[in-house]
Amino acid sequence: MQKERVIIIGSGPAGLTAAIYTGRAQMNPLVIAGTQIGGQIALTAEVENYPGFWAADKVPTGPELVEVMQKQAEHFGARLEYDEVVSVDFSQGSPFTVKTYGKTYQADAVIVTAGASPRRLGVPGEEAFIGRGVSYCGTCDGFFFRGKDVIVVGGGDSAIEEGLFLTKFADSVTVVHRRDELRAGPALQKRAFANEKISFVWNTAVEEVVGNGTVQAVKTRNLITSEEGDLPIDGVFIFVGHFPNSKFLEGKLEMDEHGYVITDELMRTSVPGVFAAGEIQDPIYRQIGTSVGQGVAAAMQTEKWLSERE
Ligand code: NAP
Repeated sequence: MQKERVIIIGSGPAGLTAAIYTGRAQMNPLVIAGTQIGGQIALTAEVENYPGFWAADKVPTGPELVEVMQKQAEHFGARLEYDEVVSVDFSQGSPFTVKTYGKTYQADAVIVTAGASPRRLGVPGEEAFIGRGVSYCGTCDGFFFRGKDVIVVGGGDSAIEEGLFLTKFADSVTVVHRRDELRAGPALQKRAFANEKISFVWNTAVEEVVGNGTVQAVKTRNLITSEEGDLPIDGVFIFVGHFPNSKFLEGKLEMDEHGYVITDELMRTSVPGVFAAGEIQDPIYRQIGTSVGQGVAAAMQTEKWLSERE
């Protein structure tokens, strides 16, 4: 069994930041990165609100930020393993057992930064058309919808940000939202309302995705009048929130009713020696900046916890 001092589970902004800090503290961290490094920002087209990396003529992309963070972590001695954690055993206290598809590890301390994933809408046809017109990532799939008509489901920051991005490719972007006002921040709203390619269908739920091989339409229902409709469309981009990637932690760490890992202000979980940072424990802010800050805090507390024991 491979023995490690610190294992960081996840490689988004929280995980890579924890890797930079534990690396600089000479703790030789191992990052179990998942199959793709970077978490959700790796799928983000433009990041204009992360301080220090902005210029009027050059807004960084998510992958660019990830690349710098990874280089910085590796420079300070972090090692990355492209594998996924399938189970953990925290029951005996430190050292903890962490199992991936490929290996079993022991670690004196663990920092969990496994992040969150896009929530499904949960309507008929959605699953069947994933990759054939249904998408959860405009940045990844927008290119395939050049000259096409798409809808965006949701009214939060993600829906509007991705909707704006999709206007680079699609002829039209229709935002279908269940209420008559957006949840997205004012700056994004202003840009969306000013964009000629974007239109809005308010108070409306998407009830089914239909097609023949690829998406052809969605069935809708007006939530005030109950009127049903058919909206012919080439693509359906769904942004209705996220869920934490905490299935492998069920019964191992205390969680809230939505599966978010519970931490205190020192990023400690219910198991001493196991810390958590980023979206796996943060249903509120969910920003790169806050994940980075939580990653710093978790790393510093891990270092303190280990040095007090040794
Ligand atoms: P969100 O803020 O939770 O918004 C989810 C949207 O989906 C809401 O408009 C919600 O409607 C709608 N929705 C939820 N369940 C639905 C359902 N079953 N059917 C139809 N619509 C449904 O999620 P998010 O946009 O992914 O953002 C998550 C967090 O990340 C937020 O804190 C956000 O500020 C942050 N974020 C920030 C940025 C940025 O700063 N640039 C970018 C992306 C995300 P209601 O409005 O009616 O609830």
